[in-house]
Amino acid sequence: GREWHLVARPQGWPTPADFALREAPVAAPGEGEVLVRNLYFSVDPYMRGRMNDVKSYVPPFELDRPMQGGAVGVVLASGAEGIAPGDHVLHFAGWREYATFPAKHATKVDPDAAPLSAYLGVLGMPGLTAYAGLLRVADFKEGDAVFVSGAAGAVGSQVGQIAKLKGASRVIGSAGSDEKVRVLTEEYGFDAAFNYKNGPVKDQLKAAAPDGIDVYFDNVGGDHLEAAIGRLNLHGRIAVCGMISQYNATEPTPAPRNLAMLIGKRLRIEGFLVGDHEDLQPRFVEEVSAWVRSGELKYRETVVEGVENGVDAFLGLLKGENTGKMVVSLGE
Ligand code: NDP
Repeated sequence: GREWHLVARPQGWPTPADFALREAPVAAPGEGEVLVRNLYFSVDPYMRGRMNDVKSYVPPFELDRPMQGGAVGVVLASGAEGIAPGDHVLHFAGWREYATFPAKHATKVDPDAAPLSAYLGVLGMPGLTAYAGLLRVADFKEGDAVFVSGAAGAVGSQVGQIAKLKGASRVIGSAGSDEKVRVLTEEYGFDAAFNYKNGPVKDQLKAAAPDGIDVYFDNVGGDHLEAAIGRLNLHGRIAVCGMISQYNATEPTPAPRNLAMLIGKRLRIEGFLVGDHEDLQPRFVEEVSAWVRSGELKYRETVVEGVENGVDAFLGLLKGENTGKMVVSLGE
């Protein structure tokens, strides 16, 4: 089977030359292992960080080794109790066609309960990120006005809709194209949205949130964060989920210049990792899957076909070519 290797550490924006698609033998599962054929694998912004050789909350990808990430596949052979050929599993051996690994790293998923790709997006890691970040980290309360950046992406689109479903007074989103802005207001029920490429974030946010905001869910950093600090009301909260505008920066990026506002407005700013909120998983799945079934929560996916296009999918994600979760399909 084919698998993607990182072959050089990108400086700034990654390029296709930093990756290689290589053929690897398919290993039969040993005792306690499973052999899986992947059907979908995920490309996620945090993977850019793993391409750097720096100490972080996840170790860097090793050069000339298969990259990793979320994936859903079908079990072809099993040496483990409780998992049988034909079962579908969520696991972490993405970026490849076939994987053999300990069954304890696989979670069975039900292909009849939801489309398989949903376990990588709306019902998966990005969904839990939105749920935990908004409801726990940002301490969202009914009546809050919420601003979310990266609002047409996997995490952001769910943040805005959960806020609406939980009684936000106003939900504002920003995204990188007029078409995405249209999706936010016309399909996802955002009260206001703007294209951050059309003018200064500060001015566009002011127009969209004349009465200020109570929560900012940050996926982007930079001028978005500064604008949000300026617009937050007394006792406002910022959940720092991501800062994608900085992931390819080669120089330190400018700080928000208005941090002193945290004092007078008694703002709270807190970063978080989804992995620290696994305890919310059962509540998240129950609540969000009910909203998905009822049609109250909508989601989109951008599906790139073929393992050979995996790197293009990842590079496209960094450039905003996705609306909703970006996934790579390997063909059912
Ligand atoms: P998305 O589906 O939102 O895809 C990434 C999007 O980022 C692109 O579609 C693009 O949309 C936007 N983007 C790219 N560059 C910029 C830029 N310079 N300024 C503004 N927007 C930009 O990805 P996810 O939903 O998976 O992730 C969203 C954020 O959440 C990321 O920052 C990610 O790192 C973070 N995250 C954090 C987790 C945690 O545990 N803390 C877990 C999961 C995700 P556009 O067209 O709008 O520019």
